[in-house]
Amino acid sequence: MAADVAVEGCRKTYGDVVAVDTVDLSVAAGEFFTLLGPSGSGKTTTLRMIAGFEQPDSGRITLGGEDITSRPPYARDVNTVFQDYALFPHMTVAENVGYGLKVKGVPRTQRKGQVAEVLEMVRLGGYGDRKPVQLSGGQRQRVALARSIVNRPKVLLLDEPLGALDLKLRQEMQVFLKSLQRELGMTFIYVTHDQEEALTMSDHLAVFNEGRIEQVGAPAAVYERPATEFVASFVGTSNIVERNGRRVSIRPERIELNGAGVPATVADVVFVGAFRRIHVDTDAGDRFTVVRPNDGSTIEPGTRVHIAWRDEDAYELQPPSNQEVR
Ligand code: ADP
Ligand code: MG
Repeated sequence: MAADVAVEGCRKTYGDVVAVDTVDLSVAAGEFFTLLGPSGSGKTTTLRMIAGFEQPDSGRITLGGEDITSRPPYARDVNTVFQDYALFPHMTVAENVGYGLKVKGVPRTQRKGQVAEVLEMVRLGGYGDRKPVQLSGGQRQRVALARSIVNRPKVLLLDEPLGALDLKLRQEMQVFLKSLQRELGMTFIYVTHDQEEALTMSDHLAVFNEGRIEQVGAPAAVYERPATEFVASFVGTSNIVERNGRRVSIRPERIELNGAGVPATVADVVFVGAFRRIHVDTDAGDRFTVVRPNDGSTIEPGTRVHIAWRDEDAYELQPPSNQEVR
């Protein structure tokens, strides 16, 4: 598929701070693409360069093949949804959603139709006459969403839009956002620091670390075959061990507790509801994390076990990339 958005060799510094240290990205038309990484890794800065709120020091950005690097935000066919979805409190929901169209001079009747349609899409059909204060946090977030898709931008940028919501609502909104994106066929570029959110929602994701991308891929590929130690430990949990001079990553759910393997002792068992996280110490002094579904059985700290894994479940990591002298 043709690249809808391409970020080519973009770098952004603020004085001595390197916010984004040469990022390359290619996002296909109609996909859900996630920028995943810890706080301070350069996700927001990258998104703001795509939106046009920041100018890269070097590199270029294209949209549908066209160079948009020096265009102001309003001249890019891109909208942004922020976490603190500032709605106009004195306006109704419908007025909030239709405001951008009004400014653009879209005639009243046409505006009404477009607003009604998009409110229906975000499941706020009957809410047009309410004021923001009469809505829940999740509903307000959907108004903000409606406002940013009502003029059908080519690309929607979302910066941690669910960060302010509690877990259950966040999970509902994840499913909803994903289905809305499919329905619209719009390109979504989504920022989150939550690896589970990134794995469940994305077609592709890019893992950010200190202003660089360490890996880009489909969720299952990144999880199953993490490229680096950083990715292995940031995306899910990993056991990283040295084998024959190479560093390998083994996921906790791929480790057998009673195989014909390395002798070890159970150190502690953490109950997590649907599963248990078991820490074991090998006789050689390595700590492993093992995950087992909660099948009703018990295992006590102090139990002697033998841990083992299949060769194909030990995935070889690339050595850390040489950090440039900044
Ligand atoms: P993220 O969104 O991944 O948390 P950001 O892109 O916001 O990361 O920030 C990356 C780095 O750049 C951080 O160290 C941050 O402090 C710094 N930074 C971001 N914006 C500015 C700014 N306007 N002035 C100075 N430093 C900034
Ligand atoms: Mg951010």
